[in-house]
Amino acid sequence: MTTLAPWQQRVLDGALASLAEDRLGHALLFAGAAHMGKLAVAERLASRLLCSTPGPDGLACGACRGCQLMAAGTHPDFKFVSFIPNDKGDKLRSEIIVDQMRELGHWFSLTPQMGGAQVALISPAHAMNLNASNALLKTLEEPSRARYLLLVTDHPGRLPATIRSRCQRLAFRPPARAEGEAWLRSQGHAGASLTAALDAARGHPGVAAAWLAEGGMPLRAEVQAELNALAAGRQTPVALAQRWLADGQGELRLRFAAELALEGLARHLGAGSPAGLTLPPEIQKLAAWFDGINRAREQLSLPALRHDLALAGLLLEWRSMFKDTAMQGARR
Ligand SMILES: [Zn+2]
Repeated sequence: MTTLAPWQQRVLDGALASLAEDRLGHALLFAGAAHMGKLAVAERLASRLLCSTPGPDGLACGACRGCQLMAAGTHPDFKFVSFIPNDKGDKLRSEIIVDQMRELGHWFSLTPQMGGAQVALISPAHAMNLNASNALLKTLEEPSRARYLLLVTDHPGRLPATIRSRCQRLAFRPPARAEGEAWLRSQGHAGASLTAALDAARGHPGVAAAWLAEGGMPLRAEVQAELNALAAGRQTPVALAQRWLADGQGELRLRFAAELALEGLARHLGAGSPAGLTLPPEIQKLAAWFDGINRAREQLSLPALRHDLALAGLLLEWRSMFKDTAMQGARR
């Protein structure tokens, strides 16, 4: 089993201590930013709850029948609920639907096959649509001694308050800088690239690690260069918008664009280093543009919208923030 990061271990230790003192809730909300390792902790806790002979460390033994079935992914009293294929069967749905929650309610009504606990893990829990949430609420309102419901989410605020209030929250918080750096070094990262990635990820080591592993940092540099080229009139908004959305990295590019704008603003206010994104002369317009990019980013998950047109509009806005200065420069 891989070693948990310190911030994951703290949450697991807290849950195991609660379990030992019989204070662990039967509905648990694993909440925190993406890439904090919430799912890994939830799975480890699920294994512990289904282990018949837990070790002195409070963890699953890894050897009993329950642990073997969990390792094989075939434990009959463990259920993982996530996105299922759509009716056509050609791709996964973008929501968790009510049928899945009804099935879960039925599954919970069965006698556990191994005679121990029943554990269901829903991830990402914020993807439940309204009907699914309402159906789950019924299950939550009928508590049962050996039944555990583990909800994993990057966006706890998107869950109905009625569900949140019935869950015990296990909060994942980004670690102190030194701990994040030490963990990244333990993952084989080092030097200036480590520092730059952790800065760009605003202190979230899991995000930094993902970007370092999957080419996020070159993509960020590319977004910056393209916005600078757009400002200088060497790019057209329409072509750039289409390119940004063409390869499935659109969401990440918009995140980088928004963060570069925010970073530029902070740099401007703090009179820091002049390197980075070229800022428009009317700096107050940057905040509105930042909001626009974030809205566009949220809407990327909605189908049937012309995302390229919306983005081209925002990129045109970006370019026009620089046009006035170019014209003023020409007049002088
Ligand atoms: Zn075991």
